[in-house]
Amino acid sequence: MGGAKNHAESLTARGFNDTSEAICTVHIADDHLLDLVAHDVASGLCAFCDTPREETVGLEVVVSNVVRAIERSYDRTEVPSDWVPSLDTSDVLWDEFGDVFEPETQLFILGCLNELITVDNWEPLGWERQDGSTYADWRTFRKLVTHRSRFIFVANKDRHTPEGAEEASRFVAEFQRIIMENSEEIIREIPRQTVIYRGRMVSSLDDAQSLANAAALGPAPDDRAAANRMSPAGISLFYGSATQEAAVAEIAAHDVEQRDFALVGAFETLRRFRVLDLTNLQVPSVFDESRYARRGDLGFLKGFVADITSPIKLDGREHREYAPTQVLTELIRWSRYPSVDGIALPSAQARNLAVDNTANYVMFFGPESIEGHGSLRDGSRPSFRLPAGSIEAYKVNRRVDAERAQWRSSTR
Ligand SMILES: [Zn+2]
Repeated sequence: MGGAKNHAESLTARGFNDTSEAICTVHIADDHLLDLVAHDVASGLCAFCDTPREETVGLEVVVSNVVRAIERSYDRTEVPSDWVPSLDTSDVLWDEFGDVFEPETQLFILGCLNELITVDNWEPLGWERQDGSTYADWRTFRKLVTHRSRFIFVANKDRHTPEGAEEASRFVAEFQRIIMENSEEIIREIPRQTVIYRGRMVSSLDDAQSLANAAALGPAPDDRAAANRMSPAGISLFYGSATQEAAVAEIAAHDVEQRDFALVGAFETLRRFRVLDLTNLQVPSVFDESRYARRGDLGFLKGFVADITSPIKLDGREHREYAPTQVLTELIRWSRYPSVDGIALPSAQARNLAVDNTANYVMFFGPESIEGHGSLRDGSRPSFRLPAGSIEAYKVNRRVDAERAQWRSSTR
């Protein structure tokens, strides 16, 4: 009796039930979890493919690592209450362990872990310090800048202030903190003599010769700079891409006139740049103890980048939808710490192209930064050069992808 009681108590303490089932390692997609269970790998019967396998690991080993990982960010809580936010185990599993297992069997594995874990409710650690999540604040910031107060938001409790101003101010501070504290992972150098491609659309190659020069292919003069994702009309920045294909995809997608040809110049950087590189964010695994502290920040940035790179219909809505990224670009551009020369973002247009590097760059330089422009206001040296013979023309083929929608006309 005593033994059974002790066993029940130890099950409660550790937070999961006994199981003799095993899982084959192919279902585990997370390398850190694979490392943690490596010592326990043996042949066995996989409960998920119902087949004897060479490399399996006891489900108990997996669930014990999962509970330990949960307890890094959550406390067990008995009963959900109105004043303490809490999540049930299945929510925590879906939120934090979604990409730990291979997609095909993920549903079954997470369901099985949910059955094994005896804790019902979890309270996020440090919830009392947070006034809402960064992502929620970003959504509020975006809404405020798009629809209520674009250029100034005063968060003053004594005065009439637009709804969301407090959250938006908090987001700006939090965004700066995230960039500062993660700078070693997200700030990268672009060496001298790196090629960045930039171009423009033309209706026929008859126009090509007159436009095949640095002035025509470089950033527009200030008074002709159009509104763009990261800069409002009137502020000229150097937009470019890491490959010709990405450059063509970008300018063709943004060409409201749907012209047939693209002229692309291979601009060369004349000095070293530092960029905020948001192209290849590595969100730490929930099992990665050394980088775990960055998980929240990098996870936020990943969602943020997905939001700001999603294509926008250029039917006039760009004038409002681009506003939040224009504001944040200025914040990054004029911040002293960390000081950067530009931002690299994944190209939404080049996502489906077979190219290794789909980075787009927005560099904080206007037309005067191009060699040969001849009027550098501050007497500094030019930053980009368009070597002779480095302009190529592309014929743009626009494709339409279609899939059947879930709609059918009535048969009656
Ligand atoms: Zn299996």
